[in-house]
Parts: sequence; C-alpha cells; structure tokens
Amino acid sequence: MNKTLKFNTLTIHARQKPEETSGAVMPPIFQTSTYAQEAPGVNKGHEYARVTNPTRTALEDLLAGLEDATDCAAFASGLAAMDALLKMLRPGDEVISTNDLYGGSYRLFTQVFEPYGIKFHFINLSDTAELMAHINDNTKMVWIETPTNPLLSIIDIRSITDITRRRDIISVVDNTFASPYLQQPLKLGADVVIHSTTKYLGGHSDIIGGAICTSHRDVIDNMRFQTKASGAIPGPMDCYLTLRGIKTLAVRMQRSCENARDIAHFLRNHPDVAKVFYPGFEDHPGHEIAQQQMRDFGGMVSFSLKNDDVETAKKFMSNTSVFTLAESLGGVESLISHPVSMTHGSIPVEVRRKSGLQDSLIRLSVGIEDIDDLKTDLDNAFKAI
Ligand SMILES: *Cc1c(COP(=O)(O)O)cnc(C)c1O
Repeated sequence: MNKTLKFNTLTIHARQKPEETSGAVMPPIFQTSTYAQEAPGVNKGHEYARVTNPTRTALEDLLAGLEDATDCAAFASGLAAMDALLKMLRPGDEVISTNDLYGGSYRLFTQVFEPYGIKFHFINLSDTAELMAHINDNTKMVWIETPTNPLLSIIDIRSITDITRRRDIISVVDNTFASPYLQQPLKLGADVVIHSTTKYLGGHSDIIGGAICTSHRDVIDNMRFQTKASGAIPGPMDCYLTLRGIKTLAVRMQRSCENARDIAHFLRNHPDVAKVFYPGFEDHPGHEIAQQQMRDFGGMVSFSLKNDDVETAKKFMSNTSVFTLAESLGGVESLISHPVSMTHGSIPVEVRRKSGLQDSLIRLSVGIEDIDDLKTDLDNAFKAI
C-alpha cells in the first residue's frame, strides 16, 4: 500500500486487498480448522488454522500497517500476547517495568513468570536515572505502559529507547491505552508494541484479543512459533469483529478525546473532586511529553474525591446510568470503574499506596455519546453522594 497515505486512511486500507476468489471487500470469516491439500505438503499456503487463518492474517496485516511494523501476530487476548512475549525470556533474565502497571500485567509477571526464575523491577520509568540504576547484565526487557493505568502518567518513550537501544535490551510498549491513532511507539524507537485489541482497537466491547507488532525478525519468528506451539490464537469471528472495529478507530478516537477533554475540565471545576488525572492539562507533569509523542490526550480520565474513601466512590458509581459500571475501556460506550476494588485488586495495598492509587480513585473510559448526556450523568451522581 502507498506509504504516503495518512493514518485515518490506513485504518481502513493498510495492507488490505479484496478477497481473491470473490472480490469481497471485507475479508470473509474463514470458519475452518483445516485446509485441503492437493498432495501431502502441497497446499494453498494454509495447513491448519492454529498456524494460519486468512481472516487472522488480514487483521495482522492491518495492525502491522497501523503500528508501522513489518509484522504482527494476533493472540486470543492481550495477556496471551504478553505471555508469548515473556516466554522469550529465560531463568535469570530481568525485566524493568513501571510501578503504575496494568493489574493483569502485574499478576502475570509476579505470579506466573517470577516462579520460573525471571526477575521484575517496578520503578518510576519517568526517571531515567532510576532506570539506569536498575540496568545490569541480566536486563533483557524494559516494559513501558503510557499513559499509565489508572493514574494516566506519561512516560517518555524516546528517552527510554535511547538507553535500551545502545544495550541488548528489548523495549516493549503496551500501547493499549493510546492506540496507534494517538501514538506509534515503533516510530519513537521501541522494539515491540503490544496491544489488548479488546479495548480501543476492537472498540465495541464485544471481543477479547491481543497483538504483538514488531519489525524484529527474531521476535516475530518467535511469536509465530509460539502461536503454532502453544496455540493462544483468536478465532476467525473475533478477528473479523476486530477488523470491523478498527475501520472506525480514527473517528471513534477523535470523539472520545473531545468528550474526555470536556469531562476533565468539568470535573476539575467540581467542588466534590480532589484531583483530576488527565495528561491534557497544562499543569500535568507529563503534558509536554504527551504533546510530543501523542496526537491527542486520549479518552481516559481519572479523578479522586474530596471524601477519599471507598464507600463514597462506590456510592458515586452506583448513581450513574449512562456511564456503565464495568471493567475494561475503549469501547463506544462510556464506562466507569473503581480500580482499587476492581482492576487493581490483585496489587498489594502497600504497593498500591506507594504508587499513589487513592481509595476513592474513579476511572472513566469516555465513550462517544453526546457530551451533554455524559456531563448530566456525572452531575446526578455527584448530587447523590
Ligand atoms: C486490558 C489490558 C490488558 C490485557 O488485555 P486482555 O485483552 O484483557 O487480556 C493489558 N494491558 C492493558 C493496558 C490493558 O488495559
């Protein structure tokens, strides 16, 4: 595909072509487990659907195009993608990551991979001196998440990849929160981008999926080997739905960002709110970096209440009706969640407090509904607490 096409065109056309036998504009859902062979080993490029499926390939091609990668491997979930990537490590290897990490990643690191002899450090990745202090001969990966979840801190991708590239360290960016619409980490020097396609890419809260995008041959070969050897693949129907979702990524993200900006300001002016976390504010510590590495400031807004306790937060959340109380994010519908009792429940209290995660913290995934309805909904919830 023409390299000069703009991102909003690529979301629809990147590395896509009509299906060969019928000319179908959208790839069919190839609901098959196996493929007929003319003679043993003589086939049309597909043998068994754990290894390849044309619907999955169409999704992988589109995602690779959006992240400016040579290749992409799709997985059954974001965590399955991370699991595959972490299996490239060996006992004794070390990973440096952020202390404000997605709870599921933290659980995978500490409860699945640590027992196999892999060591994880959770540090403040905004501080390159702290990063340097943790790098040693065993460091194999630096795992970045930006904006972070749920505190929406910004990590300077370029400053970290400048350090890792001069050493034999793989830099990984979990780009789930930003989506490639807002940020393309490979262009900022990262080696690997990981996605939970469940979120903004799928965009409709109807699938679970994951992906790894990279231009490193050894990494993509290893990922393809693992999909074949371990089999954490997404089914063709889910691949199709993800493809369909991605086609509208640009318009959804644009509206989501606009609504989030409006809501962040609304919350900041509300007397019951203690603090609003939103990288679009000029006084947000990561604002300048966000301006450099992101196209806009995203659809996520977190805030804490003046009454900083779990009960007040719960009361607030049970009184919204357009915002649905649910885990996850990135769909067309606005969601509200309480990290401490929901997504971040598996992080120990001491660790949580250390990273500044307050008891009353509420996280919003701002959808694409009418902004007036969203604000009225929040206003009503404030009146109820
Ligand atoms: C949801 C999420 C994941 C995990 O993805 P699943 O598709 O739920 O397995 C990983 N990272 C981030 C930042 C997420 O929000």
